[in-house]
Amino acid sequence: MADVRHRQPLRLAILDAERILAAAGIDSARFDAEEIAAHVVGVERMKLPLVPLVDPQVIDGIGKLVHQRAKRIPLQHLLGWAPLGPITVDVGPGVFVPRPETELLLEWGLAQLQGSARSSGKRPVVVDLCTGSAALALAMAHCRPDAVVHAVEMDRSALAWARRNADKQVAAGDTPIRLHAADVTAPGVLSELDGSVDLVLCNPPYVPMGTVVPPEVADHDPVQAVFSGGDGLDVIRHVVTLAARLLAPGGGVAIEHDDTQGESVPALLASRRVLTDVVDHNDLAGRPRFATARRS
Ligand code: GLN
Repeated sequence: MADVRHRQPLRLAILDAERILAAAGIDSARFDAEEIAAHVVGVERMKLPLVPLVDPQVIDGIGKLVHQRAKRIPLQHLLGWAPLGPITVDVGPGVFVPRPETELLLEWGLAQLQGSARSSGKRPVVVDLCTGSAALALAMAHCRPDAVVHAVEMDRSALAWARRNADKQVAAGDTPIRLHAADVTAPGVLSELDGSVDLVLCNPPYVPMGTVVPPEVADHDPVQAVFSGGDGLDVIRHVVTLAARLLAPGGGVAIEHDDTQGESVPALLASRRVLTDVVDHNDLAGRPRFATARRS
């Protein structure tokens, strides 16, 4: 039967959605309401003001997603994608949702490669450890099409997302990345690259076991992508060892960490004789967020 209800103001539907999401304890209620509305309408969020009235079916569609979001299903699972810098990747159950703070590693990595290789003719070699959806590796490949980008992931379902994202990006014309199904804590992993890597990036699992995290993380991110032992440093310890082995002289490493690890992760890097210039960096909220070092 034809729907006899009238077209309704989208603005009011968004206000409704915001109220419901705020009541569910979601800090970013306004943003999430707008992203959901934009998704259902089929426009970018910034174009919502250009859509004053919508069909009742659109209001229903927004209502359904808002209901799910109010149950603390991650916004990115409902949309099906997450941004990282200039790219977006597909995400959903079984893979860690990229966070905005990881863009800091992308920026640092790009700055690190500045001036290298492009003129010399040699392709810079980049390794992204614990790649998950491959967001960081694909963003690097997108920004530096001349780079050889390797991405390492051991989890099968995360790898399936990584493969899907990598295929999509190749179809869009970017340089292919090289995906490795491997465990960064295994001895000898990636030994074929020893001493030849210009940049190692890593957003590992680093949350100390027992830390209370929001329901979006606790119930929907893969547990092994978030937690890493009592002090959160189990995987990072291996990553530091691996980075020291992989890097070429002058190469750089950046490791994301918890805001409680602003001293421990730099100390782990500094404990390696071959690593120098250890620096810890804050995120935009002023919290310690990632540590970097250079191979001497
Ligand atoms: N900071 C992340 C969070 O939002 C944890 C990320 C990680 O373990 N790599 O939960």
